[in-house]
Amino acid sequence: MTPLEHGGRIARRVTLTFDNGPHPDVTPAVLAILARRGIKATFFVLGKAIGSPEGRALIERTLGGGHRVGNHGFSHETPFGLLADPEEGVREIVETQRLLDKIGIGTRMFRPFGGGGYINAELLSAPAANYLVRERFDLVLWNSVPRDWERPADWAQHALNEIALRDWTVTVLHDIPDASLEQLPAFLDQALQAGVEFTTELPIDFLPMAGGVATADISAMVPPAQRAVLAVSELSSAAPA
Ligand SMILES: [Zn+2]
Repeated sequence: MTPLEHGGRIARRVTLTFDNGPHPDVTPAVLAILARRGIKATFFVLGKAIGSPEGRALIERTLGGGHRVGNHGFSHETPFGLLADPEEGVREIVETQRLLDKIGIGTRMFRPFGGGGYINAELLSAPAANYLVRERFDLVLWNSVPRDWERPADWAQHALNEIALRDWTVTVLHDIPDASLEQLPAFLDQALQAGVEFTTELPIDFLPMAGGVATADISAMVPPAQRAVLAVSELSSAAPA
């Protein structure tokens, strides 16, 4: 990934993602801020937030704005690797995808709940990973978590600093109350001014599974005790990047 020259400056690429929504008080404002700047993002939504007519309407508005929508599980209560019943992880994905399919989204993207943004062996349960393979999902990770939910008034500078360090950043924000909204306009304007190119494409480095095929070691995202039942194709048979 070579940085792009952009008017004499180095342009960084950013895939902007919003997790844990939709929320009636926040998502419409986020959509308006993005639309004003012509920026498209990807929203990883919770099943518990999209079953109502209001939730469904928010997803339709998001899709209508040209954004992508993916599955972030149903309840967002426990990282799948810590579930007492590993099969519960499958139900979390299935129930959310059923609601998304009813709305008519054509994609199968899943982002696991990282319990604070961490990528580790608690991200998935083995049955959930096997389900993602069978149903040919994309598994979407990240490399920047500016912790907007902990620092709603000063996450933006941290996010910009991380963007400056890398060619391509997958930034995780949240369209929930007391998170990204307050600083979002300033963040986007400063990023645009610095020549950042916003994209909805995902670098292969943060897609450890693409269409159900592993491109990285999925077992590292599953608790050691569950790895024996993992039915994910090995790295050696992964699709070319
Ligand atoms: Zn989340």
